[in-house]
Amino acid sequence: MRVGVVGAGLGGLALAQGLRGAGIEADVFERDPGIGARFQGYRLVLDPIGFQAVRDCLPARWHPLLDEIVMAASAEQLVLDPRLNEIGRLGAARTGIVVDRQVLRHLLLTGLSVHTDAALTGYHVLADGRVQARFARRDPATADLLVGADGVASTVRGVLSPETVPTDTGVRFVIGRTPLTEEFAGLSATYGSKITDGRVSLLLGAMRFPTPPGQAAERLAPEVTLPDIGDYVRWAMILPPDDSPRDVTARDAALSRMEGWHPELRALIGRADPDNSTLLSIRTVKPGGRWPSGPVTLLGDAIHATSPTGGNGANTALRDADLLRRCLIAADDGRRGLLGAVDDYERQMLVYGAEAVRASLERLPAFAPEAELS
Ligand SMILES: Cc1cc2nc3c(=O)[nH]c(=O)nc-3n(C[C@H](O)[C@H](O)[C@H](O)COP(=O)(O)OP(=O)(O)OC[C@H]3O[C@@H](n4cnc5c(N)ncnc54)[C@H](O)[C@@H]3O)c2cc1C
Repeated sequence: MRVGVVGAGLGGLALAQGLRGAGIEADVFERDPGIGARFQGYRLVLDPIGFQAVRDCLPARWHPLLDEIVMAASAEQLVLDPRLNEIGRLGAARTGIVVDRQVLRHLLLTGLSVHTDAALTGYHVLADGRVQARFARRDPATADLLVGADGVASTVRGVLSPETVPTDTGVRFVIGRTPLTEEFAGLSATYGSKITDGRVSLLLGAMRFPTPPGQAAERLAPEVTLPDIGDYVRWAMILPPDDSPRDVTARDAALSRMEGWHPELRALIGRADPDNSTLLSIRTVKPGGRWPSGPVTLLGDAIHATSPTGGNGANTALRDADLLRRCLIAADDGRRGLLGAVDDYERQMLVYGAEAVRASLERLPAFAPEAELS
């Protein structure tokens, strides 16, 4: 069996790793010109299901390394004013496993066949039941199954399920990261809480590596090369729909909305790396009806894009990868036909995927009361 995976995000890479481990050929096609072409280095919080899923997709010999590059986190979900006085609670304290996206991506990329500068433009099903994928700047490729793991603006979804389209919630957010130095020790109690002046909300989260990832890889799995990144604070400012920043950098856009805020908070944003601060839109995809089963399917944000305030998008994409991997192994072993295996996957994925989007949207008004949630 040969599987073509469109998109080298967390979901696509986890699937490709899981298939490689089972001896199933998987080619990954990524639109970006190089694997490090875009900065993708923010921390993610994984829940037990998402963490177990990525663990199961990786070879067992890398599990000690995986355990060494994550940190356990628990955070009070307080609501604070800009002078850091407690003014409410968002909910019960949250726990999770924190991982740096860039480090995890490097681990997931190890040993895979990833074709970069390979933007999929379309596909068609051949007479023999296989799929031919077309790309902007490379020759077509043929696979027994094509998996669209190509994110919220998925080209594969545009062909397979054109009625499923992204919704722009109108909410924008600025995200960046600042090296975690002694200077910010006083802010540690604010991590995991929401700081708000009633108009914008600022969310902070720390990433502390138990061991520098590069050193951990050298010691525990020398065939893996991981980037050495220092500890940092990830910050995200959520802006209301009518507030589109026109400022020079995303970092300055955030700072300009913090007049009179606690000096340590202003210093934290001021010390952020301007090249790694970005403005993003919150767009979601709610899975619609089923498409006729066939040799093409979808995974991750391509079919169920959640609001980042839900903290469940990567978790759900990794869960998809693990579930689809298991279904395809059953097909490869002859315990199931390929189309039956894809159907098993889609029936389960569409249920929990829709629930993930619903749960994330339920949490959005706590951060952006004016969001358009239709
Ligand atoms: C700031 C932020 C914080 C977040 N925090 C969390 C968190 O704490 N916990 C959590 O669970 N989730 C979190 N999420 C959500 C999570 O990042 C996403 O849900 C997850 O990365 C989706 O993975 P994916 O593989 O489906 O898609 P993506 O990571 O979007 O990957 C899609 C890939 O497909 C490629 N591509 C697109 N079109 C094409 C094409 N035509 N041809 C080839 N390649 C293509 C893209 O370049 C990209 O590499 C966060 C999201 C953001 C933005």
